[in-house]
Amino acid sequence: MKIMILGGTGDARELANRLVVLGHDITTSLAGRTRAPSLPCGDIHAEGFGGAEGLAAFLTEGGFEYLIDATHPFAAQISANAVQAARQTGAPLLRLARNEWIEPPGAGWLHASDITEAAHLLPAGAIAFVTSGRKEIAPFLARIDCRLVLRMIEPPETALPEHAELILARPPFRLEAERQLMQSRGITHLVTKNAGGDQTRAKLDAARELGVRVVMVDRPILPEVRNVISVDAAVAAIQDSTL
Ligand code: NAP
Repeated sequence: MKIMILGGTGDARELANRLVVLGHDITTSLAGRTRAPSLPCGDIHAEGFGGAEGLAAFLTEGGFEYLIDATHPFAAQISANAVQAARQTGAPLLRLARNEWIEPPGAGWLHASDITEAAHLLPAGAIAFVTSGRKEIAPFLARIDCRLVLRMIEPPETALPEHAELILARPPFRLEAERQLMQSRGITHLVTKNAGGDQTRAKLDAARELGVRVVMVDRPILPEVRNVISVDAAVAAIQDSTL
């Protein structure tokens, strides 16, 4: 089957690799934000489409039979575009999104609806471990009354001020290392988006053990579509649809 995967996540990459092995004709699209992305097997479309209309036209012209939205749960615009383009073209749409992390009883997470609110929730004097990605650090950098430890995969475009330390690292992250990192910096607050999944959840376990307060950016609400929560389930759904 000829399938378009909207990518930009590790799950999207794994799904593409699995479906190529099964003989499907896969194109993965990337937004072009990462300088050196790890690429999946199959074809790559390394830029946007020009909105929902552009995506619909691309699907029709390319003869795509199926659309999979395997983007990050916080990539709300492309997910909305996928819904609209699928409606317009009649292509079946499947979303692959891991379950979100659930707050353990008594954990006392501080909830934010976006990054700006998360930055405001930090109390003066906080030592914050911020894991929200290089594009979204500005509201934290403005908090000159806090110390910041910023972790991201690729460096930010501008130099960081004195009150911010940069850590470049790629998931997965293990509990022992997260515990050590938080202890060595005297972290008081962890700021994270509710990405879900196992690759980056150890920071939450370490925070719980160490009494570090979690500032959780809640997921945006996306239009309802058929959703699966694992690569295995996505592969099964595709294989079922070809029977
Ligand atoms: P977004 O706000 O939802 O999308 C903005 C625009 O970027 C879209 O309208 C589309 O442009 C283009 N775009 C986004 N994802 C695309 C994809 N997979 N393929 C082709 N075009 C895409 O997206 P975002 O939050 O900036 O995220 C960009 C990419 O980074 C996504 O692929 C996502 O999976 C990945 N990512 C995002 C986050 C996050 O926290 N947001 C975290 C990790 C990875 P056109 O309208 O021109 O088509």
